[in-house]
Amino acid sequence: MSQNNEDLEEKKLLGSGGYAIAKLTEDEEMKANLGVPHLFLGNVGRLAEDRFLRYYCNKCGKEHDGWPLLIYEVPNEEIAENVILVEKGEYRCRDCNNTIAQYRKFSQ
Ligand SMILES: [Zn+2]
Repeated sequence: MSQNNEDLEEKKLLGSGGYAIAKLTEDEEMKANLGVPHLFLGNVGRLAEDRFLRYYCNKCGKEHDGWPLLIYEVPNEEIAENVILVEKGEYRCRDCNNTIAQYRKFSQ
């Protein structure tokens, strides 16, 4: 995979339990944008750890340096006709285990 680091932009990604500051490509930014002025971590899905600069946990009430813990599974489970749940994951605070954001990836 070739990726030009200069194309990465620092963005704030909102989650249900906080937010993350991460570097995104233009494609990822488009994916995270649902036509509203905010970007959502849950729409980006899985991001490499080194993309995260810091994150904020609502429960801790503060920012942490680095990346939130990511727990994910790849169930490849058919949840409706021709709709497969490919991957589901959850970003959690490394200090208190609070869920920062969740995502689900489907293929049709
Ligand atoms: Zn926390």
